[in-house]
Amino acid sequence: MHDFQYRNGVLYAEAVPVTDIADQYGTPTYVYSRQTLEHNYLEYTQALQGHDARVCYAVKANSNIAVLNVLARLGAGFDIVSVGELERVLLAGGQAKQVVFSGVGKQTHEMQRALEVGIHCFNIESTAELERLQQVASDMDRCAAISIRVNPDVDVRTHPYIATGMKENKFGISMAQVDSVYTHASKLSHINIIGVDCHIGSQLTEIGPYLDALQRLLELIDRLQDQGIAIRHLDLGGGLGVRYADETPPSIADFIAQLLQLLNGRPLQLVLEPGRSICANAGILLTRVEYLKTNEKKHFAIVDSGMNDLLRPALYSAWQRIIPVRNDIAGITRCYDIVGPICETGDFMAKQRQLVLNAGDILAIQQAGAYGFAMASNYNSRNRAAEVMVDDSQAHLVRQRETLEQQWAHEQLLPHE
Ligand SMILES: *Cc1c(COP(=O)(O)O)cnc(C)c1O
Repeated sequence: MHDFQYRNGVLYAEAVPVTDIADQYGTPTYVYSRQTLEHNYLEYTQALQGHDARVCYAVKANSNIAVLNVLARLGAGFDIVSVGELERVLLAGGQAKQVVFSGVGKQTHEMQRALEVGIHCFNIESTAELERLQQVASDMDRCAAISIRVNPDVDVRTHPYIATGMKENKFGISMAQVDSVYTHASKLSHINIIGVDCHIGSQLTEIGPYLDALQRLLELIDRLQDQGIAIRHLDLGGGLGVRYADETPPSIADFIAQLLQLLNGRPLQLVLEPGRSICANAGILLTRVEYLKTNEKKHFAIVDSGMNDLLRPALYSAWQRIIPVRNDIAGITRCYDIVGPICETGDFMAKQRQLVLNAGDILAIQQAGAYGFAMASNYNSRNRAAEVMVDDSQAHLVRQRETLEQQWAHEQLLPHE
């Protein structure tokens, strides 16, 4: 379910023709649907109704403050991986006490700020990090609430760059070591153990690995209980997949139902950190065809968005659906590679798509709301795209297109000889 649909041959975002957005704000432009964002978030909270649970949106998937604000208004918690994300959450009206802090490389200043504003929990990924947090908290005379991120070593079938819960990954602490790390943590003066945590990967389309991970975490919780370490919450991370092509991920409701069944009424708060499943289908990227080009082997459509705007195809060979914003245009269907303007062979949006195209046409790259703008860069000195959020019949500019001056505002020439 999402709110980008054709009406009379034109693609709409909710009640706004996206052609109007392209006319007004130009291309490339990310367009988000408030309604879709809310729908996805509420699917989580509704499925969890009646259970002690916390849905902490993973900010890294899309950190625009308007996106965060829409979710904060619904009472969302947030999963952050840097102090920058923490400040965005606060700026957007999120509650510090609803924030969990993940990531393998938290720096001292980031821990300080998180303690100062009073976040809910640190997800600890190594003994060295635990020692650092103990030191920082003790210097500030605060107590840091923690979970330890376990690497449950479950096999997930996803792209190797986004599989995080196997032994060869840098994330978390292995099952073999985690019990002793908890024992150690329980002896630290400024550390308060409250949970266990894992995050096994992203774009997971099967429930099996989650259930395996949950089972292993429950066994750990039982062992800790025997040692006198009481666990209040179980954080299963994010990672639920979405449909880009023909994937068949479980619905959010099915996913939650199966987790709750395995939890079987245990007095534990369930924490989830969904990113992609909340915002992926709530966004599209509008891009214009600059040129058509044909050689002996191929038809190319050269568009005005590149890997600096949308990195997923280049980074993960990701497939995202591309549709014309007008689907009533007559012409010859050809098989196109849709490529960007950047000087890299990896700079493609899509390969081998059957489309009717003319120069000047506008295309919509779907499921672009997650890991789209968030991964944008200035490579090739290109300005980052504009972002627009549609709310029913209103289109709000939520980030201006960057200007050239903004690109080099922080650069400096060497002094004169
Ligand atoms: C990236 C990440 C998430 C979100 O993953 P999605 O696949 O976007 O749901 C959640 N938790 C942690 C620790 C992450 O690194």
